[in-house]
Amino acid sequence: MKFREKRLFELVQKYNVPGPRYTSYPTAVQFTEEFDDAVLEEALDLRAESARAVSLYFHIPFCFSLCWYCGCTKIITRDQDRGDSYLDYLAKEAALVAKSLHPGSAAKQIHFGGGTPTFLTPAQLRRLGEIIHRYFSVDEDVEFSVEIDPRRCTEEHIIALKEIGVNRASLGVQDTNPEVQKAIRRIQPFEITREVTGYLRYQGIEKINFDLIYGLPLQTPSTFARTIEDVTALDPDRFAIYSYAHIPSIMPAQKLLNPEQFPATDEKLKMLMHAIGTLPEYGYRYIGMDHFAKEDDELSLALDNSTLQRNFQGYSTRAELEMIALGMSGISQGDDLYYQNEKDLGRYYKFLDEGRLPVAKVLPLTDEDKLRRKVIMQIMCRGEIHFEQFYRETGIRFEEKFSGELERLRPLEEDGLVVQHVGGFDITDTGRLFLRNVSMLFDGYITEEQHRTAYSKTV
Ligand code: SF4
Repeated sequence: MKFREKRLFELVQKYNVPGPRYTSYPTAVQFTEEFDDAVLEEALDLRAESARAVSLYFHIPFCFSLCWYCGCTKIITRDQDRGDSYLDYLAKEAALVAKSLHPGSAAKQIHFGGGTPTFLTPAQLRRLGEIIHRYFSVDEDVEFSVEIDPRRCTEEHIIALKEIGVNRASLGVQDTNPEVQKAIRRIQPFEITREVTGYLRYQGIEKINFDLIYGLPLQTPSTFARTIEDVTALDPDRFAIYSYAHIPSIMPAQKLLNPEQFPATDEKLKMLMHAIGTLPEYGYRYIGMDHFAKEDDELSLALDNSTLQRNFQGYSTRAELEMIALGMSGISQGDDLYYQNEKDLGRYYKFLDEGRLPVAKVLPLTDEDKLRRKVIMQIMCRGEIHFEQFYRETGIRFEEKFSGELERLRPLEEDGLVVQHVGGFDITDTGRLFLRNVSMLFDGYITEEQHRTAYSKTV
């Protein structure tokens, strides 16, 4: 192993501790079911007072079969009529949400996630498009993306998605090795991935992301290297390469996996190192936290222009959008309040039958939360903190307020992850691989208990 690789390997081992992914701060762990309805109403009234740019997320919870590694909120069924009832309720929810928006508000970003959005038939997808256009104004420059399970996606689905305005797709690939696919119960011959990628491009949906996972049963550095070789041949614009998070206490399906088949931590690290080392050769740049993008992709440009954002869907190029999630379990993210919909389908429907928004949990943000959110998002998205700029934007002297945290940065500085200087600190290229370790120093909620139970390891 070359010296730099060896050093990186040691660092990854050292910093491989449980930690949040910071798609939000505070994280969803802090949400509470004990809340005063008036707090939610007040936040929604405030939202309705002025026109906003919004990001709409639609959660489609159904899947035809269970993948054993799955950590998503989903319902396994083969009954596609359930999609019709679900759309009836999404329409009710959209009507209520539209009332909580100023008429001048417009969607600049729309995302279908799941579950499996392409569980819906092409006709049901068209109906979802009609619901969106009936209740919301959609910006003509909208980024409209959909998560696709290639095993459940025909050309007809893609034609319907194109018709309703989708212009970006994210394909779940995970791993191309047949034995790994058997072990995780997700049989997806690579030919299917190739075919769906071809349909998307043919229909003009050319912005494509592939999701991969490392750390799955029976994966080895060499099978994973082959997966990388396979998927780069299809030339997507982006990759999200996630570390498999084994948390069976929270994701019961994972108990089905054979623990003896998991790769050892060292093997898992080699897979990550392979991705980081190889993808630049194919023209992909490391954006941060599992994400790689082509040099000319919007994420790369946003990284250069310091306009990269982070929200519940990962990295985003659309700045300062109010995130509104519809559907069971969806999480909405406003300036002052986060809230999550009911995770139980029956209760989600019941709320809407009563004419109420199906909100189960909320988290009102304190001034301290907002300040720390700003710090953590700057670390995750810009990789730097400038004291003067921070003071101009917040009226707070960073070096005084966070003097203890800056002190705790020193060991990371000694390891070459950050460089502190009189005007602030910068994350180094090596440090970009450890963004959540740096961010965790500024997290006001991290406790020993949470370290142990609620989060997966950073790698
Ligand atoms: S991984 Fe995706 S397709 Fe598989 S069960 Fe989970 S949500 Fe459904």
